[in-house]
Order: sequence, then C-alpha cells, then structure tokens
Amino acid sequence: METQTEHFECAIIGGGLAGLCLAIQLADNGISTAVFEKGKYPFHKVCGEYISMESWPFLESLGLPLADLALPKIHHLGISSDRGFILNHHLGMGGFGISRYSLDHYLFEIASRKGVRVVQECRVTDVQGNTNEGFRIRTSSGLFASKVVCGSYGKYTPQFIHLPETNAPGADNQNYIGVKYHIKTDFPSNRIELHNFSDGYCGISAVDRDWHCLCYLTTARNLTENGKDVKQMEEAVLFQNPFLKHYFTQSEFVHAQPLVISNVQFNKKQTESEGIFLLGDAAGSITPLCGNGMSMGMRASRLLAAQLLLLFQRKQTYRQALENYHREWNAAFGTRIKAGYHLQKLFGKSRTTDIALRLLDKTPWLTSKLVALTHGEVF
Ligand SMILES: Cc1cc2nc3c(=O)[nH]c(=O)nc-3n(C[C@H](O)[C@H](O)[C@H](O)COP(=O)(O)OP(=O)(O)OC[C@H]3O[C@@H](n4cnc5c(N)ncnc54)[C@H](O)[C@@H]3O)c2cc1C
Repeated sequence: METQTEHFECAIIGGGLAGLCLAIQLADNGISTAVFEKGKYPFHKVCGEYISMESWPFLESLGLPLADLALPKIHHLGISSDRGFILNHHLGMGGFGISRYSLDHYLFEIASRKGVRVVQECRVTDVQGNTNEGFRIRTSSGLFASKVVCGSYGKYTPQFIHLPETNAPGADNQNYIGVKYHIKTDFPSNRIELHNFSDGYCGISAVDRDWHCLCYLTTARNLTENGKDVKQMEEAVLFQNPFLKHYFTQSEFVHAQPLVISNVQFNKKQTESEGIFLLGDAAGSITPLCGNGMSMGMRASRLLAAQLLLLFQRKQTYRQALENYHREWNAAFGTRIKAGYHLQKLFGKSRTTDIALRLLDKTPWLTSKLVALTHGEVF
C-alpha cells in the first residue's frame, strides 16, 4: 500500500513559468506549496524567448535581478514576406530576450530558496478529490495531498483533466509543430525579426549567452508534405524567404539537432476543471506571433495568487475563488486572444502577407496599434 508522503496547502502541476511564478508568490505569503515538474532543471523548451517588457517589474518583484543579467533589450521589429519585402517598425513597449533554459532555472532556484517543495522528474498521473475535502495527487514519486490544486502543465492536457471540446468561433483548430535552435550569428541585439514562409513564420532575436533564438511555427501538414523531414522542409519551404535562407546558412548552430514539438494547438480552454485552477497555456494559449504567451502565463499567476490568498485567509469560499479568477482571467485576456486569432490570418500566406506588410508599411499608426494589441500593460 502507498503511504501518503506530504500534505500541502497548494499543489501545482507543472513547473514552467506560470507554475513557478505562482509558487513563489504563494511562498512569499507563507502558503506551503509543492510544484511537480516532470523535467529536470535546467532544460530547453520550444519558445521564441522574447518577453514583452510588461513583465519586467513582476519578475523583479519575485526576486529575479533582471537588471544585473545584461539581457538584450529589444526595440526594433522587422517582419518579412517570403517575397523579400521587409516592414521595419519601432516597438513601443518592446521586450527582452532570455533563454527558457536560464529563465525557468532561475525561477526554480528562487522558488526552492523561498521554501517551495519543487519535486523534479516527477510526473503527475492522477488527481482525485474535491474542493470540500481536498485532493490526492498521484505522481511518479508517490502520493501527495493538498487543499488546493492548480494545473500549469502547459499546452498538452493530461488525461486526468477533463475539458470539454472547445470550438470557439474563430478559433484556430490547426495542428502545428514548433522548432527551435540556438544559433550564433551576426544580428543586432536590439531587434526581433519575424520571417514568413508558406504556412508558417520564424522568429529570430538575441537571448543570454551570446546566443540567438531561431524558432518557427508551421502546420503539421507542411512537415508531412516534406517527407516528415525537418531539414528537407526547411530547405524546400523556409529557404524561399531570402532572409531565412541567410540565417540558416550563415550561422553557427549551438546544437546539431533542433528541439521539436508537435501536436500544438492554439485555443482558449478554461480556467477550471473539477475544482482545479488552470493557468498559463493550460488555460488557453495564443499563437506566438500574436501573443506573448509567457507574459500571459505570468500575469495569470498574479491574478490567481491574489484569489488564492483570499481563499487561504478565509475571506472567500473555494467556489468564489474559482469564479473570481475566471472573471479576472477573461477581463485580462479575452480581447487579446480574439485579436490574436484574427491577426494570425494575415501571416504565413505568401500573397496576403506580402500585401498586408506593404499596407502596414504605409500606415505606421496602424502597425503600432496592432503591435500594442499583442502587448499588455506593465504589471
Ligand atoms: C513555437 C513557439 C514560440 C513561442 N514564442 C514565444 C515568445 O517568443 N514569447 C512568449 O511570450 N511566448 C512564446 N510562446 C508561448 C510560450 O512558450 C508559452 O505561452 C509559455 O511557455 C507557457 O508557460 P506555461 O508555464 O503555461 O507552460 P510551460 O512553460 O510549457 O510549462 C509547463 C510545464 O509542465 C510540465 N508538465 C506537463 N505535464 C506534467 C505532468 N503531468 N506532471 C508534471 N509536470 C508536467 C512540463 O514539463 C513543463 O515544464 C511560444 C510558443 C511556441 C509554441
């Protein structure tokens, strides 16, 4: 028989940005918290690694001394069509670059120092229980118990979480793949570029360690049509864009093989499943082109931490906490997600993208407006 090992006030499934940020805020307020992470820090993730400036003060408030890390600050944007046209624009708020390898590891260290029990190489396989009696969490490292459970497991919903099929109007139900490299190349550290190709786009920007992140998103169909071979697809499709051909052929690749994820979908899910609070990509993700998913995950962690503290201080019931979090999440992200779905339609299509970029080039005020939709207020 399994023995119940430890009891926590809050258990968090998944130690990415959203989960670790939530854990740190709870620990700062004296709440006993566990994070279960199936990986072992530090590890790489498929991500463009550009963080909107809106999150800078929040990360510093958690104890991450960003100003001391000499990170690249990004204020210039270039977007190209595969026909070779490039739109250049100044980014109002802008962002900074940091690899997920470094960022998640820093947050893991801060959480551990603040007393969060971070259980690494530990996969959560089931959650049973309810909001009245608490939850039992079955993991590859044994059984744990907790009053509150939060799911920040990212874009792949585990089998034990039951979400209805979402077919929100206008939502994108395509299946995507994401591919990421770190490269060393001649590219200004204050710039981010997005290069379109047929059925996808590829971002390039500087991160820490003198690396650049070269990361693209395309449809699963694109890969299938190219013999399920990433290199073949890059040469046949991505290289049609002259800028991409240049970066792929004139850079030093830090690792021989890219990091690849498949079965990626972008849709709004929900903020709760049977009493489990959901945050980050688990609650809904947005295509990287239109989103700043990392900042959305961090912002959601702040909204949720505030509601959980009221719950732990007995100033609201569990049900009220679920409802208030749901309302605040929609107010914070509803418009951003809808705008994202529409913006996405302009990209990854040769002719449409080329025309859209040429029009935007002539209307900088509109470009500024669209860029602003993808960045939130500082928090
Ligand atoms: C191609 C691509 C490019 C992107 N580029 C950007 C960008 O430039 N800027 C930006 O802001 N956003 C970007 N995003 C979005 C961003 O990566 C996500 O929004 C962000 O990582 C979400 O954070 P999270 O904490 O919700 O999930 P994640 O960071 O994915 O963390 C989830 C964690 O849960 C763990 N986990 C999962 N299941 C279990 C389980 N059962 N038990 C234990 N652990 C589990 C995983 O190992 C993982 O560490 C991009 C996304 C893609 C696909």
